[in-house]
Amino acid sequence: MPVSKTPRQEMPRQRPEDRVQNFNEVALGFDEEMAKKEASRCIQCKKPLCVPGCPVNVQIPQFIEMIHEGDYAGAGEKIKETNSLPAVCGRVCPQEEQCEKTCVLGKKGEPVAIGRLERFAVDYQRKAGLKPPLKPEPVGQKVAIVGSGPAGLTCAGDLAKLGYQVTMFEALHAPGGVLVYGIPEFRLPKQIVAEEVEYVKSLGVELVLNAIVGRTLTVDDLFAGGYEAVFLGTGAGLPKFMDIPGENLMGVYSANEWLTRTNLMKAYLFPVYDTPIKCGKRVAVIGGGNVAMDSVRCALRLGAEEAHIVYRRSEVEMPARLEEVENAKEEGVIFEMLTLPVRILGDEKGWVKGLECVRMELGEPDASGRRRPVPRKGSEFIMEVDTMVMALGTSPNPICARTTQGLQVHSWGGLIVDESTGLTTRQGVYAGGDAVTGSATVILAMGAGKAAAQAMDEYLKTKR
Ligand SMILES: Cc1cc2nc3c(=O)[nH]c(=O)nc-3n(C[C@H](O)[C@H](O)[C@H](O)COP(=O)(O)OP(=O)(O)OC[C@H]3O[C@@H](n4cnc5c(N)ncnc54)[C@H](O)[C@@H]3O)c2cc1C
Ligand code: SF4
Repeated sequence: MPVSKTPRQEMPRQRPEDRVQNFNEVALGFDEEMAKKEASRCIQCKKPLCVPGCPVNVQIPQFIEMIHEGDYAGAGEKIKETNSLPAVCGRVCPQEEQCEKTCVLGKKGEPVAIGRLERFAVDYQRKAGLKPPLKPEPVGQKVAIVGSGPAGLTCAGDLAKLGYQVTMFEALHAPGGVLVYGIPEFRLPKQIVAEEVEYVKSLGVELVLNAIVGRTLTVDDLFAGGYEAVFLGTGAGLPKFMDIPGENLMGVYSANEWLTRTNLMKAYLFPVYDTPIKCGKRVAVIGGGNVAMDSVRCALRLGAEEAHIVYRRSEVEMPARLEEVENAKEEGVIFEMLTLPVRILGDEKGWVKGLECVRMELGEPDASGRRRPVPRKGSEFIMEVDTMVMALGTSPNPICARTTQGLQVHSWGGLIVDESTGLTTRQGVYAGGDAVTGSATVILAMGAGKAAAQAMDEYLKTKR
């Protein structure tokens, strides 16, 4: 097996002591020299295993070769052929579980830093100025997209490129879904998301903000208004709680509210932006995924003196990206592993003052294949905390399903669809992303948006 002699290039990052003081992007990106050096590590496999590892089939060896030759803008173009939000993916995709996991160099050494190279190429191309998109021949049919997250944006862009008149309805006052309301500025600058949204709009997609489908207007209203197909990319924004005593005390947030206030409403710039957030001195975030890491790192930046992750399994089982766990550790986050919260304690005014937990040990594997955490008798203890964030996962938002005749959902709330087309149980209504799978990843939501766009095109052709 070939092993590259050049070591994998490290991504320059803000120093931990500086970055906890600000919300600016932590990872700073490769410069040209680093990018070329990293690109030189790719051995241009005849049968590149990295490509099938990418859910949207980016032609990885080709774009890496273009970087190697110094054609950075060309590399950006190549990526954009199949990935409509590459500056986002280059920053937040779990590459270590996708393309980089299957890169042949990873077998005996370190895989090519495909994600970092993707970010370099598309950032370069964006700064150099985007080519105006080609305007397709209009086909004379209207399509509605509900939700402007990665699934909706991808589906909208692909249908607009095919000549459909596309309108995207978004419940919030800003487009982008989790990319703007969840993932913090220090991992994904909002300007990048805004530019990607502008690109989709430049394809002719109309964006209607502050429009909750199922409240402001229904799916039936959309059909009555002349839309011939509807895509639901409404995400999974419904927070879960633990159902333990004390969850309604003041100072207990869902991660959803915590992150939305901090990021979308820019509470960290209070009073310039007028959404306050009360972050105490000792914060506990419950959960071990990316949402928990984002929440706890926000707490440090909002001024917490101590920020804890409380997770009932062990560190190896944490679903968060390794890179983000490392970032959190460097920034001083304290990890309380194998720890289960059982009760939240309040003071006489109704504010959180502590968290009762019990230590766990790992037992036999459960249905998920991971070893089941079991409580250790007599290990109860109290953590002194004044703010708590519940980052336990989310469920699909039920509004559309409840207000649309003929839409069926699983018991846990996910929309039931045909896997390959995204067709729901109602004719002309398609769905994809977190609304179907439950909380997953940006790239999977985009893949679902793409597949649905293709299927919607087939369907709509039959109606011409
Ligand atoms: C804090 C956090 C961090 C994450 N980190 C990562 C990461 O590092 N890497 C990664 O790959 N994934 C990450 N994810 C997951 C990823 O962001 C999601 O899987 C992805 O955004 C799902 O895309 P979507 O388009 O299906 O839904 P969303 O991004 O949730 O977008 C749905 C949109 O629909 C709108 N909407 C909902 N209901 C209606 C309605 N009735 N009418 C109109 N509009 C509606 C919502 O307001 C929202 O804007 C993270 C998620 C969170 C919460
Ligand atoms: S598998 Fe790795 S080495 Fe081979 S082409 Fe893909 S990135 Fe290059």
